[in-house]
Amino acid sequence: MTMSILNNGVHDFWQRLQILPRISLLRNTTLLQPLRRLSEMLQAEIWCKRDDLISFGLGGNKIRGLEILIADALRQNADILVTGAGVQSNHVRATAMTARHMGLDCQTVFWGSAPKCVDGNYRISRMLASSVVFTENPERSSVDSEITRQCKKLLRQGRKPYPIPRGGACALGALGHALAAEELYLQCLKQNIIPKTIVMATGSGGTHAGWLLGTKMLGNPWRIVSYTVSREVEEVCVQISRLVNEAAKLLDQELIVGEDEVIVYGGFIGDGYGIPSVEAASAIRLLASCEGILLDPTYTGKAMAGMMEKIHIGSGFNYPLVFIHSGGEPSFFAGDGKWLSI
Ligand SMILES: *Cc1c(COP(=O)(O)O)cnc(C)c1O
Repeated sequence: MTMSILNNGVHDFWQRLQILPRISLLRNTTLLQPLRRLSEMLQAEIWCKRDDLISFGLGGNKIRGLEILIADALRQNADILVTGAGVQSNHVRATAMTARHMGLDCQTVFWGSAPKCVDGNYRISRMLASSVVFTENPERSSVDSEITRQCKKLLRQGRKPYPIPRGGACALGALGHALAAEELYLQCLKQNIIPKTIVMATGSGGTHAGWLLGTKMLGNPWRIVSYTVSREVEEVCVQISRLVNEAAKLLDQELIVGEDEVIVYGGFIGDGYGIPSVEAASAIRLLASCEGILLDPTYTGKAMAGMMEKIHIGSGFNYPLVFIHSGGEPSFFAGDGKWLSI
């Protein structure tokens, strides 16, 4: 980047990020489009960055982190990626697709026990995984120790496993999302838009962390806010600030972001992670019918519901606003769809 507003340290950050090994899975800048009817309805200028249209592996934000993680795995001569989460995880599906694309195996770990129906993301992960393990424990964190255990087992078998934490939430993966912030910045210059607020959904926090780091390194052109869909606000803010600081350190940057600088809103998890809420269902119906854009029930539907509510009650945001459509549509097709009440 050649922008005079950037000081030397910041230049150094983008240069180091550019030369970090990365496998190009995206190929292109994702679409940034106005949501005309929604903007009219809400009386606020709203745009959408369509990371759901990343074509590789059925897309979504996880592909951005994986571009860097898979390059690191290949550099370490790994022959199998090991990751996990819930059965409808976009992250696990995207990781399995990435592994196979690069000729590697993939082992998956899911919390709980095997569901009867092999649908949505699970259908893809199940088809691609060389082995599928269930923790038989409903705690989501049970996945973490099982990933470690499976890696040790694979090492004993002479394999070269590369573990990727739940959600791909690690410092290296977050750097892929810092690049997304730069991509949006350059795209906005081209399209003559000066967004003031970026809204996204937060699960494990790696995406928000990367966007926040990138935003800082761009000189804070906008505010990043997110809606948590799984953890408590306080917990996720700690996680995000930790990831920002670790990611900055990977590129030798002296940057400390406190958890009080991280803006995460709660109140839209509903009955729990991965359980569709009434508000998300109505946000999904609205976006599909007024814009022809499909959101997902686990992440983007809940974040959109939160964003619309905040605009409705009048406290609102600074505009223009860009909503990051981080993908996740395969989970729309899981289950009987009764939650949509159509
Ligand atoms: C994983 C995911 C998110 C959240 O990303 P994190 O880095 O886990 O916070 C948002 N939207 C979709 C569709 C996702 O799959």
